[in-house]
Amino acid sequence: MSQLELLWSYQQADVEAERQENAMKRSPTRQRLLKHQEFLREQKAANAHIEEEVQAMSDRIDALKDAISHAEDQLKALSKRYEENRPDNGDDVQTYIQEVQRLLQNISGYEQEVRRIRKDGADRDAQRRDIIQRAANVRKEYDDLKAKYDVEYAESKKKLEELRAIVAERSKGIEPEYMEKYKAIKQHSMPPLAQLSNDQCGGCRMSLPSAVVRTVRSGKPVECESCGRLLIQL
Ligand SMILES: [Zn+2]
Repeated sequence: MSQLELLWSYQQADVEAERQENAMKRSPTRQRLLKHQEFLREQKAANAHIEEEVQAMSDRIDALKDAISHAEDQLKALSKRYEENRPDNGDDVQTYIQEVQRLLQNISGYEQEVRRIRKDGADRDAQRRDIIQRAANVRKEYDDLKAKYDVEYAESKKKLEELRAIVAERSKGIEPEYMEKYKAIKQHSMPPLAQLSNDQCGGCRMSLPSAVVRTVRSGKPVECESCGRLLIQL
């Protein structure tokens, strides 16, 4: 066999192996598995986000409780001062009442906020339970799918290895310069070899100049001027 013929035979095996590799990447089971993985990652992130929010809420409630207790202390101190030293004019009584009202208003505002945060917190808890439940369902599906995929993958990989062994076998006898050329063309055009058919390049369908056609027919290596593939006459 000529170098080009050896390369052609090598290419057939190479195309098969590559097809198998692509089929493995496109496997519907694998695609679904990746989607499940993505979903689980998203749920985990959402859960972490809610945890952060709940933590911030809890911190805020602590701060509000401190503020309430501080306002209550102020109220007690104010009332003690009032008892010990009752004001004797209307203005001072008015000031006292205003101060008491202000503190009571603050306390009521803080308490309202605590109630609102607790309600939000309960909503967040419900959201989290929902997320955890959904994630658990998907996790179950994921595990089943993974078990199925592992079997599929083992089979596909075995087949791929067999095809690659054929590729390696068929590379024997190919001179390094031909192999290098093949690999260089493969970078931009797969498959790298094209058959001459009706004086056209079988790869890109461009009509070839008669000088090129003659060279191909003589069995010498020549590339298509249009797509760069190595041309062969079988
Ligand atoms: Zn071409």
